Amino acid sequence: MNEALLELDGLKVYFPVKGGVLLRARAENKAVDGVSIRIEKGETLGLVGESGCGKSTLGKAVVRLLEPTAGKVRFDGRDISHISRRQMKPIRRDVQMIFQDPAESLNSRHTVGSLIGEAFEIHGIGEPDWRKRRVVELLEQVGLPAAAADKFPFEFSGGQRQRIGIARAIALEPKLVVCDEPVSALDVSIQSQILNLLLDLQEQMGLSYLFIAHDLAVVKHISDRIAIMYLGQLMEVGGADEVYAHPKHPYTRALIAAIPEPDPSRRHRAKEVLEGDVPSPINPPSGCVFHTRCPSAARRCETDKPLLRDVIASDRVAHQVACHFDLQAGQRESVR
Ligand code: SF4
Repeated sequence: MNEALLELDGLKVYFPVKGGVLLRARAENKAVDGVSIRIEKGETLGLVGESGCGKSTLGKAVVRLLEPTAGKVRFDGRDISHISRRQMKPIRRDVQMIFQDPAESLNSRHTVGSLIGEAFEIHGIGEPDWRKRRVVELLEQVGLPAAAADKFPFEFSGGQRQRIGIARAIALEPKLVVCDEPVSALDVSIQSQILNLLLDLQEQMGLSYLFIAHDLAVVKHISDRIAIMYLGQLMEVGGADEVYAHPKHPYTRALIAAIPEPDPSRRHRAKEVLEGDVPSPINPPSGCVFHTRCPSAARRCETDKPLLRDVIASDRVAHQVACHFDLQAGQRESVR
């Protein structure tokens, strides 16, 4: 096993749900509910799940935009779970984030040059001339012309704005970049350009990525390993090719079945498409949180929570699944 850059140990992020005249906390939204996972140096971990499964909340807790409720976030060997803003400042150089909507994350009243160079000012890096030169280098590194520095974000297309967001994220030469749905809002042709840019930058800079998306096909393209998340918990973790080719968890199979399949001979996968809505994280199902939608659920699933356990993988990368049973594709373990 290689050296870990990021380790999450039983991470929980709960939000109070307030109600009544006095707006007292009445319940908790368990957005992230006990996630343990690691990212090695130079590795890309893809985190996949339906909208509202807690994956973006997990990403924000990693960069400490959100405070963990419980559990640990360890970065480069240091516990950063509850350190202060001041203590976090030097670590921010090493942990950056790319957001889904660059239009929202880029202040439209600032030029692209000042938006990218802002990080140098905050961290007191370089003189003004050096900063300007460095901004131009960064623009070129993400495939934009030097003249872009004097323009405003609204003068660019969605794909170009995401390139600006990426230039900002890599300005301080971080070790880890949390990519929160960075291509979801882009056309398919532009998506592949941005994914290839991220891969090139990873090779040039030795970056590690936590790549968050709801589209398993996109995640497979860029990831070394994939983690599947449902209602704040991990359902399956393994090598990207292995999970895609030999999914063990019914939820992973359903996500793969939902990917449009141009080959008619493989359209049988559509049988495993999920029905029903994702339950509320305020009142998640008992036992296996997936049991209310699982076609293979047995009585035991309603009461016993399955832990992530090792299963045999053909690619020698650890493969784990949170299910009581060793289910084959299309198999029903038991009928309730
Ligand atoms: Fe389905 Fe039960 Fe496995 Fe959960 S533990 S995924 S409900 S079979």
